[in-house]
Amino acid sequence: MTRVIITGAKGRMGQALIACAARHPGLQVTGQVDVGDRIEDVLDQGDVVIDFSSHKYTAGLAALCADRQKAIVIGTTGHSAADRAAIEALQSRIPIVLATNFSTGVNTLFWLTRKAAEILGPDFDLEVVEMHHRLKKDAPSGTATTLVEILAEVRGWQLQEALRHGRQGIVGERTTTEIGMHSLRGGDVVGDHTVIFAANGERVELTHKASSRETFANGALRAAAWLASQPAGLYNMQDVLGLK
Ligand code: NAD
Repeated sequence: MTRVIITGAKGRMGQALIACAARHPGLQVTGQVDVGDRIEDVLDQGDVVIDFSSHKYTAGLAALCADRQKAIVIGTTGHSAADRAAIEALQSRIPIVLATNFSTGVNTLFWLTRKAAEILGPDFDLEVVEMHHRLKKDAPSGTATTLVEILAEVRGWQLQEALRHGRQGIVGERTTTEIGMHSLRGGDVVGDHTVIFAANGERVELTHKASSRETFANGALRAAAWLASQPAGLYNMQDVLGLK
């Protein structure tokens, strides 16, 4: 039995995790932490922490997990470069799963995006569109960021030079060395992502639409169960699903 502590327990994802964990025979939720609670008081009751709280909290939490030798599954998105580096530096001390998206479908989208970019080649313009509910705090989504990272890697481009966040005003003709990124917000959309490959005469669009947070929650719980028996290291959902 893997004992799990959930941070951000009162949030949308925290509640989905608690509901889904009750149906997961190999897992037991032994701690629920939200604003006002002290994680230090419950940390020793768990084997793995699953964090869906806030990007501001994650790096400090991961450092605490390293000090107490607890594995951590990180679901928060929107980390600064410094926080990301601090989290990655802990990989020699504890097992960490860091994934911008825990759904099997989106991890298939990541794989398909790489394949499509390799097959379609440089004649195709690359654009990514994402839509989320009106309460989401970070933009673009972590998943969209992973998608453009894959595209830039296949093209051999520096991501920060290639990225165009939205377009406004007299921006001129589109260059062949940019990746467009567009974030839509509204209603209760759980998470939609489309990668567009557009050439003269044809267009390919790869789309994933999440309609329930359960898909992320079940993926994160699967990651926690898997992580409990892994050595220290930095893993992602492709490792958990055996796609590497
Ligand atoms: P939410 O706002 O509904 O929930 C966040 C919860 O964390 C809230 O209850 C809040 O009170 C709590 N919290 C904030 N700061 C805290 C702290 N310092 N200590 C303890 N608890 C704290 O948000 P959400 O929609 O559940 O999303 C949470 C995070 O997960 C976001 O970063 C979001 O982008 C990310 N997310 C990732 C995936 C994925 O598959 N990786 C999927 C959905 C959401």
